[in-house]
Amino acid sequence: MPSLPEDALKYHRYERPGKLEVNPTKPFLTQRDLSLAYTPGVAEPCRQIYQDPEQVYHYTIKGNLVAVASNGSAVLGLGNIGPLAGKPVMEGKAVLFKRFADIDVFDLEIDASDPDQFITIIKSLEPTFGGINLEDIKAPDSFYIEEKLKKQMQIPVFHDDQHGTAIITGAALLNALKVANKAIENVKVVYCGAGAAAIACAKLHLTLGVRPENVMMCDRQGVIYQGRTADINPYKAQFAAKTSARTLADALDNADVFIGLSVKGALSVPMLNSMAACPIVFALANPDPEIEYKTAKNARSDVIIATGRSDYPNQVNNVLGFPFIFRGALDVRAREINEAMKIAAVNALVKLTHEEVPHSVLRAYGLKTLSFGADYLIPKPFDHRVLFWVAPAVAQAAIETGVAQVSFNLEDYPEVLEK
Ligand code: NAP
Ligand code: MG
Repeated sequence: MPSLPEDALKYHRYERPGKLEVNPTKPFLTQRDLSLAYTPGVAEPCRQIYQDPEQVYHYTIKGNLVAVASNGSAVLGLGNIGPLAGKPVMEGKAVLFKRFADIDVFDLEIDASDPDQFITIIKSLEPTFGGINLEDIKAPDSFYIEEKLKKQMQIPVFHDDQHGTAIITGAALLNALKVANKAIENVKVVYCGAGAAAIACAKLHLTLGVRPENVMMCDRQGVIYQGRTADINPYKAQFAAKTSARTLADALDNADVFIGLSVKGALSVPMLNSMAACPIVFALANPDPEIEYKTAKNARSDVIIATGRSDYPNQVNNVLGFPFIFRGALDVRAREINEAMKIAAVNALVKLTHEEVPHSVLRAYGLKTLSFGADYLIPKPFDHRVLFWVAPAVAQAAIETGVAQVSFNLEDYPEVLEK
């Protein structure tokens, strides 16, 4: 049997290189079509847009076009492989946007390792796009780039490695706490990793109700504690804990939740065994988790575990978020994706998990049954209902928080999404 790497190379190479093409959406067969699509006809929409910039949303693709933009400085778990080698990932993200939410994407691999240069380039592209998905940019540059661009741009700017992950883990956490029968205000949460994903997750989980005094974050040096000076940046410093714990093992003693966004093998069995009853373990390092699913299950039967992998229950995968979050944001022409919209996405995912799972989803996963519990904390990535739950929730939150720029009838929205 050919290996996955071999198959992946073939998949990308044949029949034509890459995974995408650009397709015209209007008839283009006759002289008349030529004069409508290009000169002289095209001058008319240009004039209209010049007089009223809003018209760009009626006469061009802008409102449905997202940039997946990266400088290739932190690609998957591969590290700083640069923009060219990162291109297959960005093309892949474009495929997911299209297939899951019918959003068109230009993938932008930008040769700019300097954050300010990257910002200048993206800012200059505002006329082209309805939204910007920042991707695979190393921390802390990614925080700086996103903060600046959000301030400067009037379209949504969303760093998926941060917020996508935060939203999906947020939903999984709320549901896991229900399974464990624990209140979010009381649980001790340890983050292993202090990079883009971990910091964004911790921030959103605080908004969801985790208490700051119950949080500890660890990086390669161990616990980030008040007074630590080695390898600290302003983003890590926000999570400096008042504690005598110094190692991950110290931090995990009697902890309720482990959120791993670091590296393979960071969580050992003795550490897992030292956690409180019904420990929640999200071992999300890709492709190999902080602790293997089976190792964790063998060590403790009461563990509630999620990983980034598709071969075990509870796959935390950002594809449950970004296509639908952007769908909702683009459809109401939101100026930004704000906290309320993120929390709306979390709640939609939480609620959907408690609904009966349709046969089409069971079939797609070769399952007989699936219902809410330790092995089903979040919807499956190929669940077609996610679009209909998340996009409207995000759109509604945008309207309610005043960042939507078009009036919008939410009642008709499911029908629009169906098309
Ligand atoms: P990142 O910005 O490079 O951050 C990695 C963090 O891990 C750094 O803070 C690093 O510490 C820390 N770290 C490395 N080795 C460690 C160890 N042995 N113990 C404790 N901390 C350690 O990367 P990222 O984008 O946040 O992603 C981190 C991981 O999460 C990757 O494996 C990625 O694939 C995975 N991830 C998974 C999902 C998912 O949905 N499943 C989503 C996003 C990310 P220093 O700060 O000291 O260098
Ligand atoms: Mg990514």
